[in-house]
Amino acid sequence: MKKLVTLLLLIPCLSFAQHEETIKKIYDETLTNGHVYENLRYLCKEIGHRLSGSPQAAAAVEYTRHLMKSYGFDTVYLQPVMVPHWVRGKKEIVRAVDTDKHGTINFNALALGNSVGTGPDGVLAEVIEVSGIDEVNELGKKVEGKIVFYNGEMDPTIINTFGAYGGAVIQRSSGASEAAKYGAKAIIIRSVTNRQDDIPHTGSLRYKALINQIPAVAISTNDADLLSQVLKEQKVNAYIETHCQMLPDVLSYNVIGELRGTEFPNEIIAVGGHLDSWDVGEGAHDDGSGCMQAIEAVRLFKALGIKPKRTLRAVMWMNEENGLRGGVEYARVAKEKGEKHIAALESDSGGFQPLGFSTSGSEEQREQVKAWRDYFLPYRVWDFDQNGGGADIGPLRSQGTLLIGLRPSTQRYFIYHHTPADVFEAVDQRELELGAASMAAMMYLLDREGIR
Ligand SMILES: [Zn+2]
Repeated sequence: MKKLVTLLLLIPCLSFAQHEETIKKIYDETLTNGHVYENLRYLCKEIGHRLSGSPQAAAAVEYTRHLMKSYGFDTVYLQPVMVPHWVRGKKEIVRAVDTDKHGTINFNALALGNSVGTGPDGVLAEVIEVSGIDEVNELGKKVEGKIVFYNGEMDPTIINTFGAYGGAVIQRSSGASEAAKYGAKAIIIRSVTNRQDDIPHTGSLRYKALINQIPAVAISTNDADLLSQVLKEQKVNAYIETHCQMLPDVLSYNVIGELRGTEFPNEIIAVGGHLDSWDVGEGAHDDGSGCMQAIEAVRLFKALGIKPKRTLRAVMWMNEENGLRGGVEYARVAKEKGEKHIAALESDSGGFQPLGFSTSGSEEQREQVKAWRDYFLPYRVWDFDQNGGGADIGPLRSQGTLLIGLRPSTQRYFIYHHTPADVFEAVDQRELELGAASMAAMMYLLDREGIR
């Protein structure tokens, strides 16, 4: 009896040592023979940015399908999904017209995704500056006939920059309809970034039903400061010309590749990122990194000869940026087929040094993941306390799936987010690899331990 008790006490230690050893192999393999960086280079340089509905998005679907097949995943397939097809058209013109001190000032601008265009005649109107939506509501009819300039900033005192982003992004997502309610003609927003520079940041807006759809653009933070300064000196008229438009939906795909589980094949662990990106830059951090890390995470099981007990599935979701159609469709099909996703893991916060994992699930599920922290400490991955998963996996939560988000350092993400600067060169190979290895290690633990 005493022997049995000793043995039972020993088993968790044994499995800890075993897991520890396998996880070390996973990190070592990625850091010495990783494919993730080269695969990201291909996606960024040979295909480029890939907004939903674009030819590059279609090329990225083909590329990732081919890649997963070439790695010998058991099943690789495409899941059809209709996606919005927004196009930017000719370069935007945004300028302050005929100012006293500066003459006409041309701003570095990008139309916001999903925005209607002004057409060739443009919009010319007086600019009125606000710090946020509350101020628009206070002004009410005073914004009628004007261009509303949202100049709210990301709060620099919030250490997790995603928190500061969350506070400021509402002027981008909802600002147009809020201003249009009172008869505004167009909006200009300060780019949602914590960096002071000349680069404009795009991103999606949502028009509210039954409210006039007005054009919306973002200008760089330097330009926003300049415009604000000139507005303190005088009345400013701005001219906006954009040629963007929403075309009919087109057929696209989520790309799925899986390794079938040997013991519990019906229990699925999904890992992924979103394959679409904005139509500027190369979508390197957002979210080429997450996609390539997900494929790498599954590839590592094959490379190391680890046979998963449960089914591992790499998913490239389509259309996170301006619709989330891929994530919604994926969850819908999973429910329809009666698939059981025990966990879904997403990387969509950039290819920076991983610091932890956030979770969204029942208290018991979350505690189970937090208890694995010790396995990750040797790799300086320590932060397991945050709440949250990821946009694309969000729709799975109502099916009881535990959601997990890879949490890299957030300090530099919003330099690149939705800009022409989000290119392959902005991603560090080692940081990207550490993220991929962390995801594979998390999947390994989910696979071996299951989720209660
Ligand atoms: Zn993203």
